Amino acid sequence: MKELVNTCYVCGKDLYCIDGFFNGVHTDDKKTLCYNCIEEQEKSAD
Ligand SMILES: [Zn+2]
Repeated sequence: MKELVNTCYVCGKDLYCIDGFFNGVHTDDKKTLCYNCIEEQEKSAD
């Protein structure tokens, strides 16, 4: 089962819930990011 949940607020990529697993991350301020953009943010965080 594949369900469109949201889009990444940085790159606009579609994020799906696939068999109960969401392939993105909800941040504390209610934004949704894909894993690529999470990694990019972590790289530039320090
Ligand atoms: Zn993204």
